[in-house]
Amino acid sequence: MRVRYTYRIYPNRVQQDKLAQVFGCVRVVYNDALAWVKSTPNEEKWPSNGDLQKLVITQAKQTKAREWLASVSVVPLQQSVQDLGVAFKNWFAALKGQGQAKFPRFKKRANKQSARFTQRGFSLSNGKLNLAKMGAFKVKWSRSLPSEPSSVTITKNTVGQYHASFVVESEQKSAEPLRPSIGIDLGIKVFAFPSVGEPIIAPNYTRLDKKVRRFQKRLAKQKPGSRRREATRLKIAKLQLTIRNIRKNFLHVQSTKLIRENQTVSLEDLAVSNMVKNRKLSRAISQQGWAEFRAMLVSKAAQYIDRAVNLISRWEPTSQTCSDCGFRWGKLDLSVRSVLCISCGAEHDRDQNAAKNIDQVGAGLVHDSKCLH
Ligand SMILES: [Zn+2]
Repeated sequence: MRVRYTYRIYPNRVQQDKLAQVFGCVRVVYNDALAWVKSTPNEEKWPSNGDLQKLVITQAKQTKAREWLASVSVVPLQQSVQDLGVAFKNWFAALKGQGQAKFPRFKKRANKQSARFTQRGFSLSNGKLNLAKMGAFKVKWSRSLPSEPSSVTITKNTVGQYHASFVVESEQKSAEPLRPSIGIDLGIKVFAFPSVGEPIIAPNYTRLDKKVRRFQKRLAKQKPGSRRREATRLKIAKLQLTIRNIRKNFLHVQSTKLIRENQTVSLEDLAVSNMVKNRKLSRAISQQGWAEFRAMLVSKAAQYIDRAVNLISRWEPTSQTCSDCGFRWGKLDLSVRSVLCISCGAEHDRDQNAAKNIDQVGAGLVHDSKCLH
């Protein structure tokens, strides 16, 4: 299976300029290809990747307006066109009800920049990363690469840091799980309730979040294009990066633990985007990072031979049913925190009862579940 290994890299001044050029060319090629596809009448045949590459790279280089494309390696340009092909494929799949990909959008300079090099465009030697037409880059090897990488993606984030992300093949892991299965009930106030063990509490970002909002207010009053405004923008970007890193780290630690300890992890399939119209609540949900957490669980389970993540339909009445006897007591008000089952007499904590039900549906003890892996 393929996994990513990401490292910080430190390009020198010249390399930074060259990278800026590469990022720019990658963006232009992508946008040109997208514009070309958009302008193609519906009844015409869909252009192949090869056709698009010829149009927006090979032929474009011959024109005065795009001759500067020749100054960078062709490898990331070809990858950029390929990325657009994948974006369209995902969109087609979404039209058929698979996934939620949207129609591809034009790339903007203000967003995170990236360029991907396949083996033709990079090499590793003497602890340095060599990129086509840019020379050797200093890399901070925070851990060693397990095998020869098949590609590397260079990115520059909004704070101005550069990273190299390698794709490598890795062997599947095998470890004895502690438990056959666990159910997870995701929450707002508490990140998650497992069917076994203590609630999982998310880190508190309130202090950092308050700071971000204060700077955002300041930013709104500052003159566009001014130096002070740029300084504020950078401060906000840095704070947001800190929050993202804390959250990511938390999600990594928790998902690794869950997958290592349990053979099957079940959670509700929350269509987060259409779940709530309530803006405050949807903000809270995206801050929790449920979607990211789910993706991490799935990819970590795939690293093992014998792990599974089950997503159960969110219409399962997980909070309306007794996890001991299956008696359905009906809808509960959100304020009700514990339930006494009138059928079997068991007393349940509301959230743990839901998690236990999720576990039972996911583990296949009760019907109606949708399996991902
Ligand atoms: Zn009961």
